[in-house]
Amino acid sequence: MEFEPVIGLEVHAELQTKSKMFCGCPVVDSTQAAPNTAVCPVCAGMPGALPVANRQAVEYGMRVALALECKIEPISIFARKNYFYPDLPKGYQISQYEEPLATNGRLVVHTAEGEQTVRVRRVHLEEDAGKLTHVNEGDPHTLVDLNRAGVPLLEIVSEPDMHSVEAARAYAETLREIVRYLGVNSGDMEKGVIRFEANISVRPKTGAGSEPAPYGTRTEVKNLNSFRAMEEAIRFEIARQSEILEAGGTVEQETLGWDEVHGTTYSQRSKEDAHDYRYFPEPDLPPLIVEDAWVEKVRAELPELPMAKRRRFTEQYGLSAYDANLLVAERAVADYFERTVAAAGSVPAKSAANWVTGELFALMKQAGVTVEALRVSPSALAGLVTMVSRGEINQNTGKDVLAEMFESGRDAAEIVEARGLRQVSDETLIADLVKQVLDENPAEVSSYRSGKTGLANWLFGQVMKKARGRANPQVVRQELERQLED
Ligand code: ADP
Ligand code: MG
Ligand code: ZN
Repeated sequence: MEFEPVIGLEVHAELQTKSKMFCGCPVVDSTQAAPNTAVCPVCAGMPGALPVANRQAVEYGMRVALALECKIEPISIFARKNYFYPDLPKGYQISQYEEPLATNGRLVVHTAEGEQTVRVRRVHLEEDAGKLTHVNEGDPHTLVDLNRAGVPLLEIVSEPDMHSVEAARAYAETLREIVRYLGVNSGDMEKGVIRFEANISVRPKTGAGSEPAPYGTRTEVKNLNSFRAMEEAIRFEIARQSEILEAGGTVEQETLGWDEVHGTTYSQRSKEDAHDYRYFPEPDLPPLIVEDAWVEKVRAELPELPMAKRRRFTEQYGLSAYDANLLVAERAVADYFERTVAAAGSVPAKSAANWVTGELFALMKQAGVTVEALRVSPSALAGLVTMVSRGEINQNTGKDVLAEMFESGRDAAEIVEARGLRQVSDETLIADLVKQVLDENPAEVSSYRSGKTGLANWLFGQVMKKARGRANPQVVRQELERQLED
């Protein structure tokens, strides 16, 4: 029997505000900061300490929710999700539960099969837990770091609308791109600032045009910290569940962990039910009230999102989808490109795009420099692109000049003048060089004339060498052809 996978994702994204969700502790990089250096009585769960919601975190959450076309709820409620584990010293996590910040959104994702819409069920605010490190050598013990406890966390819950590993991956990647564009999350997966939980079930595939089969029993795989782990876990579950059903068995609803080393899921516990957490409204926090005016202010301030920017780059600048993708992947790169185009005036945007995605990206990658730290300003790059397109320097010289600009931050024109790199386009000068080369190589010239036309390239090379690479190659070719035909 053929099975169709049904996948719903819960994505947890840290909101990288200055301070934590309910206290004034700073949000620090938990892979860098010394343990337990960003902790106060509130996030350490001291009796009597009172939480206060972080307005900026709410606004960051609204940005994401609006980008996902959700309805922002005028009133949402924080609740206590009770569980006993040392990563949360209060004994409960404050999380929105029955009444989340936002509902009913959607995200359009692109896969090889085309475009599809994944519905977003809800977006809610909660707090992150601390980090436990289990030490197994010697006397086994566990270290507790509460720097992350209380960091604002946004949970984005999809409907079970994805039916392939590719669709799940595309959804997760698109979401990551959006939170980065919105400036609420760095997207640094290795630092665990975005984590996934995948809900997976399978059902018999029905023919086109007939009703889909009802949903099968799902399992939920927790703590997936990379796209790869998410993909592998989903693929594994699809195969495992299909096999069970194929053999006439039933899938058990349970919560699973992912064993990275063996590439398998393993049972953590049978599926917990909501009542296991004894949810109740957080008595120390009032309902969260979001007025329309606030929603409209946040909506008005939303940046252009990647999808729209990609479309605009292809339409406005005539770029290929491929180039547009490369440039839009990072908002700072897209901005850099647009400032370059604006400064370059009449130079085709396509040339600017080629310089950015080609030479500049190569230099950045080699040196490990991000666009923010780049010493070549957009107007400096525009200057270079302009000189090349006007034929003042040739393409190869341009690459050398850019490498120097990259190191020194100097202007293209300055470097070209200082090093005497200006390209020779003067026809009499070039004619003279060509004549010299032909005079010095009579044997090659006569071979060429008796049919070995491939020698033209060699002769071209000799002229360029004489010109120390600075001659306009087009003029050289024309002149060479003219003199050889004589
Ligand atoms: P819980 O609150 O217990 O985690 P929900 O019903 O809220 O459960 O669903 C959580 C996630 O599971 C959602 O992302 C949803 O899309 C997904 N989901 C629900 N039913 C199924 C199913 N049959 N197969 C796959 N995913 C499912
Ligand atoms: Mg869940
Ligand atoms: Zn604190």
